[in-house]
Amino acid sequence: MRIGVAKEIEVCERRVALIPDTVARLIKKGLEVWVEAGAGERAFFSDADYETAGATIVADTTKLWGEVDILLKVGTPQEQENGHSEIDLLKKGAVLIGFLNPLGNPQLAQRLAERQISAIAMEMIPRTTRAQSMDALSSQASIAGYKAVLIAAATLPKYFPMLTTAAGTIPPAKVFIMGAGVAGLQAIATARRLGAVVEAFDIRPAVKEEVQSLGAKFVEVKLEEETTAAGGYAKEISEQSKQRTQEVVTSHIQNSDVVITTAQVPGKKAPLLVTEDMVMGMKPGSVIVDLAAEQGGNCACTEAGKDILKNGVTIVGPINLPSSVPIHASQLYAKNLTSLMALLIKDGQLEVDFSDDIIDAACITHGGEIRNSRVQQALEATNKQSVTS
Ligand code: NAD
Repeated sequence: MRIGVAKEIEVCERRVALIPDTVARLIKKGLEVWVEAGAGERAFFSDADYETAGATIVADTTKLWGEVDILLKVGTPQEQENGHSEIDLLKKGAVLIGFLNPLGNPQLAQRLAERQISAIAMEMIPRTTRAQSMDALSSQASIAGYKAVLIAAATLPKYFPMLTTAAGTIPPAKVFIMGAGVAGLQAIATARRLGAVVEAFDIRPAVKEEVQSLGAKFVEVKLEEETTAAGGYAKEISEQSKQRTQEVVTSHIQNSDVVITTAQVPGKKAPLLVTEDMVMGMKPGSVIVDLAAEQGGNCACTEAGKDILKNGVTIVGPINLPSSVPIHASQLYAKNLTSLMALLIKDGQLEVDFSDDIIDAACITHGGEIRNSRVQQALEATNKQSVTS
């Protein structure tokens, strides 16, 4: 059984799928690990570190992709500089594991199925207790929440903590976190550690206790509809509920120095939480960090990958924040992958066992078919859209 670790060629991606420590553990279990030359460089893991851990360094990308049984990646496969697609390098029947964005890019799933690849999308790992050690969405979202607060603190033209000095007293910064999932909760904890006064809001009432246990105030909005879907995710809410929400949150946004938005509804464009009018009503010098920038943004003024200045308010739309903490992001992701591989490899042999609920949920293509109904539906919707446009 040969495992391959690809070098990420996407420009913004600094993470690597396995770190030397996890390579050593896999080798101890009798597996062979090939690491593409330079794969860990941007996360500060050298080829020499991987070699010491027992890996074989492979400089030839075509050989690495074409001769492994399981190929591990962070992001989606890309087109190479020579115009060839990375997917075309994989051998028939190989397993590909990574963040494959199957609901946002179902055409990729279709191509993987056509190439007879068994593709496992880390986004589709169920959020259950048994799958916790494989939950890469959580390990990476937590980093994003932490880094969002650091960006906000570095951008805000004020202190975060309260200070009593000989030159006067500085009040603490007011931070409002919108969306209290994994990223939002880490953002609350980080902002509290920096001494800010924190409020948080989410349409799922179940998070109230978690928010309060981190020392933040929960801003409650009573909505007359179910807001939680299967798996604990949020549902898209009605226009009436959106209006009700906006009425309540406007004053909290406008009284805050920092607003961090993290709201997502899986498979949908990010919900709009901060309108342009709300931004216009904020104090000059305030900061918004929009973690949903890549999914369309929670703020109407967000532009992904840019800092926008609007009426004295800075709106930051960061892209791929986990990649900006590449050592620990790679370490946690590597642990997620090795836990998952323990389910896939039995007695040194690859066994894609669909009676296991985690494999069943996360394996999106196998035997030439797309085997996940949500991905199939997303593909049909995309195909219909391209026919009508
Ligand atoms: P997510 O990234 O999908 O969304 C982030 C947050 O945005 C969620 O809390 C969501 O409720 C909120 N949101 C959506 N629409 C909103 C709106 N209009 N206004 C305000 N907030 C809105 O969420 P996530 O962080 O991936 O977590 C999803 C779920 O999975 C949560 O219930 C979480 O507790 C659960 N989870 C469970 C486990 C586990 O049991 N092992 C692990 C991780 C996460």
